[in-house]
Amino acid sequence: MTRPQNDPAPIYHRIRDLFSNGFTIDWVTASFISSTHLICLLATPVAYYYAPAGFWQIMLGWTLIHALIGCLSTTVYSHRLIAHGAAKTISWPVHIVFGFIGQVLAMQGSVRRWAAMHVVHHGVDRSGKHHLDPYSATWFSSGWRNFLWSHVLTYFFHHPDTEAKDKAYDAKNSAPLVWQDKLYLPLLIGLNFLLPMVVGYLITGTITGALCLLVASIGGFILAQHNTWTVNSVTHMWGFTKGAFSSAKNNYIWMGPLGEGNHHADHHDYGRDYRNGFGWSGWLLDPSRYVILLLNALGLVKGLQRASKRQEAEIIARRKLLEARVETLRPRWDKWEAKLEALKSEWLEATQHWETFRARKIQIQSMSLPQLELKRRLEQLKAEMEVARRAMRARKQAFFDAIYEMRAMQYA
Ligand SMILES: [Zn+2]
Ligand SMILES: [Zn+2]
Repeated sequence: MTRPQNDPAPIYHRIRDLFSNGFTIDWVTASFISSTHLICLLATPVAYYYAPAGFWQIMLGWTLIHALIGCLSTTVYSHRLIAHGAAKTISWPVHIVFGFIGQVLAMQGSVRRWAAMHVVHHGVDRSGKHHLDPYSATWFSSGWRNFLWSHVLTYFFHHPDTEAKDKAYDAKNSAPLVWQDKLYLPLLIGLNFLLPMVVGYLITGTITGALCLLVASIGGFILAQHNTWTVNSVTHMWGFTKGAFSSAKNNYIWMGPLGEGNHHADHHDYGRDYRNGFGWSGWLLDPSRYVILLLNALGLVKGLQRASKRQEAEIIARRKLLEARVETLRPRWDKWEAKLEALKSEWLEATQHWETFRARKIQIQSMSLPQLELKRRLEQLKAEMEVARRAMRARKQAFFDAIYEMRAMQYA
């Protein structure tokens, strides 16, 4: 697996260094996370042991469905649609189901706060202000501290510099987000604690049943939390392909967060895309994308955003060049750099050229022309598109061939 090649230098050595840099403990969040984890750990075996006959299946189902709804709402709604604006319009039913219910079950703060933190997390890719990344997996000089911090410890602290987060929070000011934020606490208590207790009591007629389903609910949100948190920890620390602009990686295998975990490098390199993952591997491994496409097909979200083919090519080329530069001895790199840059430009131009044909095809298809005329124009365009497609592929191949040639010569 690749290790980061151009990650920023560590800022801190030990966790306690944070205290001398303005961080203070957020006792409310720290106590809540610690106590719910402790309850989950101790009460789950007891609840399954004392559960009314056959009730364990309902408890398990409740936990799994709770976790699934929480995860999906975080990935589809709070992350892609809200934090990144992956769709131009989002209808109220989507806000209600995913925001007022699903994201509350995920137990990760209001949508507005979640999105603000996430905007800052991505913002450091361009600003280079890595000390502001709330979920940084590069702050510390040791891997286990980076993992602990990015995964969970970050929530145990008040961070000193909140200007960027406050700005992002203020910017997410649409009515559904403002109301979800205002109602967050009662919704949280109602959906995560009261609802399972009432349902448990109604099904079993016993306080034991109510408490058992409460424990199942706590298990549900803890599963949702850890699943989402792995995106900040695991996918920023381990993977096969490193992003061009961030420490995020594509690992292609971690499916827990429903499409957010396997192509995180692609996501950081073009965050506004409703998809996570370029190319065919993205299509195969992105359940959250299928949900967004379904919402789009139903007219519940409109105007999906995505990287153009040229933008994708630019990102892939940039990554390849970064990787090649790190692995190549300086004199050889100096000799090859200009040639590789020229080949990259030719590939990008050819890609853009092909995209203009594709745009023209879409334009023709949307025209209200007689059937025969429409067919004639599309046939005419088809031949030109094929030529452009071949040129694009040839330029891409030429770029990759040059990279391989340079590397092969190095090891010859
Ligand atoms: Zn990330
Ligand atoms: Zn993101």
